Amino acid sequence: MDAKGKVNWLFRNLRKRRLMAEQNFACCMSCAVSELSEMLDEDKKRSCPKCQKIGAVFYHRQDAQGFARTGHLYLGYIATEDGKEKQIGEIIVEEAKRLGIPIAWNGDASDRVLLKFEGD
Ligand SMILES: [Zn+2]
Repeated sequence: MDAKGKVNWLFRNLRKRRLMAEQNFACCMSCAVSELSEMLDEDKKRSCPKCQKIGAVFYHRQDAQGFARTGHLYLGYIATEDGKEKQIGEIIVEEAKRLGIPIAWNGDASDRVLLKFEGD
């Protein structure tokens, strides 16, 4: 499977972890964060507490261009609840490892998770 195929698979699995997972989403970091925050607010109104999304994972269009060039893809993430961002990062890392995707992340919720594909 090529890198993009693995990313698709990863995003599918993240959705099963009660995350919104959006690829190639919005033009930049701040647009992506504000649109996803609205979507999470909507979800909170619509869904029961058990089904509510706990956050969102995404990469935006500039990230997608970088990915095509370098094989490196930065994932941004936000949490529905304040202070839970690190937990979302940990879920991403866990699911990426399960698929054998090399990652780089320092465990800091203010840093994005890097998927470090090489050569393919
Ligand atoms: Zn923008």
